[in-house]
Amino acid sequence: MKYKIAIIPGDGIGPEVINEAHKVLNRIQKKYGHTFEYTDLLAGGAAIDTTGKCLPKETVEGAKGSDAVLLGAVGGPKWDYLPGDERPERALLGLRKELALFANLRPAIMFHQLRDACPLKEEKVKGGLDILVVRELTGGIYFGEKGYKQTDMGEAAFDVEQYSTGEIIRVAKVAFDMAMKRDKKVTSVDKANVLESSRLWRKTVAQVAQEYPQVELNNMYIDNTTMQLVYNPKQFDVILTSNIFGDILSDEASMITGSIGMLPSASLSTGNFGMYEPVHGSAPDIAGTGKANPMATILSAAMMLKYTFGLSEESQAIETSVKKVLSMGYRTPDIAVAGDKVATTTKIGDLIAENI
Ligand code: NAD
Repeated sequence: MKYKIAIIPGDGIGPEVINEAHKVLNRIQKKYGHTFEYTDLLAGGAAIDTTGKCLPKETVEGAKGSDAVLLGAVGGPKWDYLPGDERPERALLGLRKELALFANLRPAIMFHQLRDACPLKEEKVKGGLDILVVRELTGGIYFGEKGYKQTDMGEAAFDVEQYSTGEIIRVAKVAFDMAMKRDKKVTSVDKANVLESSRLWRKTVAQVAQEYPQVELNNMYIDNTTMQLVYNPKQFDVILTSNIFGDILSDEASMITGSIGMLPSASLSTGNFGMYEPVHGSAPDIAGTGKANPMATILSAAMMLKYTFGLSEESQAIETSVKKVLSMGYRTPDIAVAGDKVATTTKIGDLIAENI
């Protein structure tokens, strides 16, 4: 089969980790007889330097014309002087909006080979961890009405949390569909004891749940969830939540697994279209040193194969190879402990490609 992939390397370590994902995808196309047609696109600081804009029109059009987007990372101190809406990171919000990426999937998987990187006690994570956070990405308080007004207590600022049933239904369906392929458990996180928008969220999720009788639905308040994630993380399978709560919870869940250099993500639209990127940023402190861990980006490419192209076996082959390379003792410095074979970004990419 032929698939069109838009590649956005971005800034800092972005191009370095993308290079390794490219290598791994090339190995997959050769081994399984697929054709990946790549288009390189500019976004972030690299786009500002070339075109003056962080998200050129051609990039949006190129992304829309592809089956999926694979992105490295954007941003860096070079562009820190720019005002908020002209900064490289603005390209991410623009891409989410333009591509209607309403569901953000962040798996927090603890590789047993990296057990020492988990800050929790052994008994809390015995047998490993595999949590999937499904976060609503294009609604809620980050996109609601905002502004300033005068009050008798002085100037006030406001940001409105608003969700429609349509927005809740479409992201809830993604979470339930994912749960059907996993342990069939959804924990919907809200603040329904205080917020009206959360009460509608809870009611609507319960309606969607009726379409999935095999999936167990639990509701949990956000404050309790932040505690439960460190107290008893193994109780979670799929966590479904709003934009702002998901922003916080997905970082907390990922921290439990150890290094940021291991964490992939997917942002999905309707149909199978998606944008795939590592959770980490452009890491300017290590850019150009060969120390960047490419595994988060390589695992993002694996998610792309699974969720957008439906190539589960190929996706699994990448995950298996990552685990194999870890078992062989190879590590980038961010995840290395005494006795490990410390390797460069390129070496890790080579090993993962070779072991597929
Ligand atoms: P960061 O994720 O880039 O780095 C945080 C720390 O983690 C650094 O010490 C870095 O060296 C390390 N790190 C990150 N990725 C790594 C990897 N793959 N391998 C090894 N170590 C890794 O976050 P930051 O320092 O807060 O931000 C740096 C720049 O990236 C900023 O301009 C920020 O706005 C941008 N950013 C972009 C994205 C994105 O493109 N999605 C996300 C977050 C931050």
